[in-house]
Amino acid sequence: MIPANNLDNCMCCADPIDYREYVDTMDSFGIAMCQHCTRNYISKLPQSEPLERKLYAALLGKGIKGAELQYFDGFKTVDIAILSARLHIELDGPNHGLADKWRTNYSLTQSDVLTLRIPDSVVLEDIESAAALITKVVSLRQPAA
Ligand SMILES: [Zn+2]
Repeated sequence: MIPANNLDNCMCCADPIDYREYVDTMDSFGIAMCQHCTRNYISKLPQSEPLERKLYAALLGKGIKGAELQYFDGFKTVDIAILSARLHIELDGPNHGLADKWRTNYSLTQSDVLTLRIPDSVVLEDIESAAALITKVVSLRQPAA
């Protein structure tokens, strides 16, 4: 049994990590990760925005497991996906429009995937509240443990 928020576990997949991995990945990315998750994270850096990565790290810090940055669902790439909760998170700048809303509706009706569209400005102003809201939604959409 792995205790929650153990400093010696990967924040993404909960696999055990050693102290060196912990220090290296926390220093570099602010997320304690195993080698596999570090490689995966680095591969997503070119496509992701700094604010998306910041929110991703905040969600992992709240103990959310199975979050994916820049997740491709076979139809589109979403900023952050939490697969166990069938939840997609999109950070919207001022230039997001009607096409995005159609994609959101498509996901909900076709696959019961809920898309939370959160304005960039909300995350910039109060990332803690944004992460707390998402954590609450995840808890509502995951089966009780
Ligand atoms: Zn991992």
